[in-house]
Amino acid sequence: MTIGYVFDEIFLAHQAPGPVWHPECPERLTAVLDALESGGLTSRMSRVAAREATREELVAVHNAAYVDQLERLLARSAGYIDPDTYFNESTRDAAWRAAGASAELATRVARAELDAGIALVRPPGHHATRERSMGFCLLNNVAVAARALQAAGLAQRIAILDWDVHHGNGTEDIFWDDPDVLYVSIHESPCYPGTGPVTASGGPKAPGTNVNVPLPPGMGDAEYLAVFDRVIAPAWRWFAPDFMLVSAGYDAWMRDPLAEMKVSRAGFASLAQRAFDLAGRSRFAAVLEGGYDRLALADMVTDLARILLGDAVPGVHHDEPPHPACTEAIDFALHMHAARWAAPK
Ligand SMILES: [Zn+2]
Repeated sequence: MTIGYVFDEIFLAHQAPGPVWHPECPERLTAVLDALESGGLTSRMSRVAAREATREELVAVHNAAYVDQLERLLARSAGYIDPDTYFNESTRDAAWRAAGASAELATRVARAELDAGIALVRPPGHHATRERSMGFCLLNNVAVAARALQAAGLAQRIAILDWDVHHGNGTEDIFWDDPDVLYVSIHESPCYPGTGPVTASGGPKAPGTNVNVPLPPGMGDAEYLAVFDRVIAPAWRWFAPDFMLVSAGYDAWMRDPLAEMKVSRAGFASLAQRAFDLAGRSRFAAVLEGGYDRLALADMVTDLARILLGDAVPGVHHDEPPHPACTEAIDFALHMHAARWAAPK
C-alpha cells in the first residue's frame, strides 16, 4: 500500500493568543508527529507537500463574502472570533494551508498516486459552516477536499464519515441539500454544538444524504461499532460512494477532557479498520479534527496509519451488546432511513 500524509510547520504556529491555555493546541500535532516518527511510520509513508487552498476551492464551500471577511479579520494580529475560536498572526496561513493540504492529499489519493492518506492539519474544520467560524474551526477542511475532488472530476459521490465526538454542524450545513455527498455523523448528545438530531436527514434535493446518530454520554466501543455495522455500513452501501473522507476526531476517547464518551484505543482501531475495509482499502482520506488528550490522540492516529499500511492493530474482540439507549438511537436512525436503503433504485 502507498499511504500518504500531509503536514506543514505552519500548523504549529497557529495558537491561542496570550498566556491562556487552550485545548486545541499545537502540542496535539507535535505528539502525533513524534509518535509516527518514533514508530517508524513516517518513513513508510509518502509525505505530500501542503499548499494553500485557492480562492476558487474555498468559495466552492464557503460564501465568498465570508472568505473575504475572514481573511480581513485574520490580517489583524490576534484575538477571538467567539469564546472558543481564536486566531493569531499565523492563523490565516495555517487555515488556508490546512484546507489546501486536505484537498491536495485527497486529490493524490483520488488520482491513485496513493491508496489512502491522513491529513495532519490544524485548525480543525468540521464546525465551520458556509458562512461562520466556530468551535475552533475557520475553514471546513474536509468539505474543501470533497468539493476539490468533484471539481477535478476525480470523484462524484463522496461519503464523509464524521466520528469526532461533536456533531459536524458545518459539514452538515455545507452539504445539506447536495445529493452527491453523504454525511454520516456519530456524536454525543447533548453536547456542543447542540445540532445533529436524527430527524435532520437532508434537504429537499438530497433526502436521506444526511445521517445523524446522536448518542447519550457514556457510550463506548460496543455502541460505536454497533452504529457502524447497523447504520454506517448500510448507508454506505445504499449511497454507493466512490470516495471516503473521514472527519477523524478522537475526542470520543474515554478520558478526553472535552467530552464524556468511553471509546477505547482498541475501539477506535476497530472503527478505523471497518471504515477502511468498507471503502475497499483505497480511495480513503482521513482529515484530523478534534481529540484533546494528546498522548491518546498520538496513539490513535498511529493506529490509523498502521491500519492503512496493512499492519495488524489490536482491535475490540469481545462481543458485548450495545447499551439499550444506543439500540434505541440506532432504531430511530433506521426508522428515518432504512426504507430508503431497502427501496429499489
Ligand atoms: Zn470534537
